[in-house]
Amino acid sequence: MKALRKLAPGPGLLLCDIPCPPAPGPGEVLVRVEAAGICGSDLHIEDWSGGYEWITAAMPVTLGHELAGRVAESGDPALPPGTPVVVIPSVTCGGCAVCRAGDPDRCVDRRGIGMTREGGFAPFVLAPSRNCLVLPAGFDPGIAALTEPLVIGARAVSVGGVGPGDRVLVLGPGAIGQAIALMAREAGAAEVTVAGRDDGPRFDVLGRLGFDRLVEVGDQGLTHLAAEGRFDVVFEAVGMPTLVAEALPLLRREGVLVIAGIHPRPAEIPLNTVVREQLQLRGTNRGRMADWQRTLDFVVRQGAALAPMVTHRLPLRDALAGFATTRSRQATKAMLLPEAGDE
Ligand SMILES: [Zn+2]
Ligand SMILES: [Zn+2]
Repeated sequence: MKALRKLAPGPGLLLCDIPCPPAPGPGEVLVRVEAAGICGSDLHIEDWSGGYEWITAAMPVTLGHELAGRVAESGDPALPPGTPVVVIPSVTCGGCAVCRAGDPDRCVDRRGIGMTREGGFAPFVLAPSRNCLVLPAGFDPGIAALTEPLVIGARAVSVGGVGPGDRVLVLGPGAIGQAIALMAREAGAAEVTVAGRDDGPRFDVLGRLGFDRLVEVGDQGLTHLAAEGRFDVVFEAVGMPTLVAEALPLLRREGVLVIAGIHPRPAEIPLNTVVREQLQLRGTNRGRMADWQRTLDFVVRQGAALAPMVTHRLPLRDALAGFATTRSRQATKAMLLPEAGDE
């Protein structure tokens, strides 16, 4: 089958021919991938700009961790062939002390589908059946595959403690910024402002998602945002270290800055501002298992209302064009759609 793979540390990805995965064992399913989203992390892995050295030992490996599809072969009677599913990419070991104690979120031997085990930029992917959540029949797999980035957004909003009435600022209008904005609105935020720079196509998507407080920051950075009044929670979803210091003055006393971007270098932070204003700096990344079902419920409830996020649908053979479009920030989310000829 065709698969988009990372062969070695260093820039580049290759669309190659590899054997299909083996038949699923007990408790596993073989998923026919119907949509796989290109993520910012995939771009970092493609250009090898730092932050993903930890996947080196798994190479060569097929990328693709934002997946929806259909069970093709099943080693679990609860998921018969034909069942439409989204795949949770985080595969816990089930055997370590915390897994056995019922706390898989702290598993010490986790593998990531599309990072440290074979992923879904391919027509088939093997996954534990417990990593599959069932979709309603006929649900658009391109929208279902948004569940993974929306889980990231849901977790970020939980980490930020966003609640009813909050004034929220999201720095970065990309897919994760959009996911945070959506989940902050869902959590009851009174106002969600999204700031970006030279990001017209992604602002258009936000407009179609119903957000009207969109700020082009231009050359002067975030300073003019101070005129908007202080925010309860600010999210950094760009991966630009200087934004951390720039965002602090925008927070109210005891406000929360949530850092979600992957940064190429350390940040310089005015710690006395943090101390005197009693600000909270928090990091967020992958969602918890418990975030998945509630986020999928949100995705199913929203359905076509989320369609503006899926700006591109491309055949798998055009994967690298999808990467280029995403890197140029024309795309919010490009979905790769494996075809029959890829098998
Ligand atoms: Zn992702
Ligand atoms: Zn474990």
